[in-house]
Amino acid sequence: MLAPGNTIGILGGGQLGRMLAAAAARLGYKVHIYAPEADSVAAELSEAHTRASWDDASALRAFAEQCAVVTYEWENVPIAALKGLGDVALYPSIRALEVAQDRLNEKDFVTNLGGRAAPYMAVDTRDDLDRAMTLIGTPGILKTRREGYDGKGQWRINYDHEAEGISLGGQPMIYEGLVRFDCEFSVILARGQDGQTVFWDSAENVHQDGILAKSIVPASPLAQAQVAEARALAQQVAAGLSYVGVAAFEFFATDAGPVFNEMAPRVHNSGHWTIEGAATSQFENHIRAICGLPLGDTQLLAKGVEMHNLIGAEAADTATLTADPANHLHLYGKGEARPGRKMGHVTRLTQ
Ligand code: AMP
Repeated sequence: MLAPGNTIGILGGGQLGRMLAAAAARLGYKVHIYAPEADSVAAELSEAHTRASWDDASALRAFAEQCAVVTYEWENVPIAALKGLGDVALYPSIRALEVAQDRLNEKDFVTNLGGRAAPYMAVDTRDDLDRAMTLIGTPGILKTRREGYDGKGQWRINYDHEAEGISLGGQPMIYEGLVRFDCEFSVILARGQDGQTVFWDSAENVHQDGILAKSIVPASPLAQAQVAEARALAQQVAAGLSYVGVAAFEFFATDAGPVFNEMAPRVHNSGHWTIEGAATSQFENHIRAICGLPLGDTQLLAKGVEMHNLIGAEAADTATLTADPANHLHLYGKGEARPGRKMGHVTRLTQ
């Protein structure tokens, strides 16, 4: 168990790091952020910030030497950067990140464990795409294997001829059949160093333009009926990766049961409601897990919880957002409210 006063290193400097830093401070830890950007919203709440690029070997080594344990809040941290940290304790492991960084590896890993996924094929060339569309059929979605988020790096193909306009650009891709689903939900778990695993209630997630708009707990009865099977799979994946920390698994609820979409080896937007809505938040349990503390109770504290993301200009009207005391407002302190940018969120509990 890591004693309070020690320093936790976080790779990545966004809002997830900011909320992790707040949870770490509450438990008496210091936080050191490693992020290339100058205006890191996580560094604002932290003791130290190393501002250096992901390929700066000496900065990575110096950062690691100042930390008792290192974690990440961004799944696109290059694997080479993690390897450059030396012997410092790193949770979740490099293996977890390697699997989750690549949609193909991730789907292979999960389906090898018996999980259900949309039909998928790797696409590196135009011929591969034609073959995938023939074998899987249209409609489908072509996605970059790496670095896609919030619907970026994705092209929906309704009819074969639409593929002609897409430039593959030499990037490794994956083609997936379109899943007909009733709703989407996530399973979020925390796994400790001793393998103890806890789950939060599953939220039903509503996306707009590929971006999470809101998370609702409890999920619809239809989704809830599929949570047990989805949890069993998530637990198997986490155990298979010797996972330590919080991980999120996104599922489609379908007539055939839960269909795995993707996993995030980190705290997740669909778990932000746990800050006010659960006895222990996803952020606190992530810190507890990586520091070897016992995991906290994940019990739901209200009849229902709704989390709304404030995207782009939605965060501008702070007078309205703060007027209702039932709104738990979180603003991330980001500068420019660009369209599609997550600026904050609001959580509401129903009793
Ligand atoms: P992703 O980045 O893979 O999470 O995709 C973003 C959103 O696009 C998902 O939350 C779904 O709403 C939708 N989506 C992605 N893949 C599929 C699929 N194979 N079938 C149907 N909808 C999908």
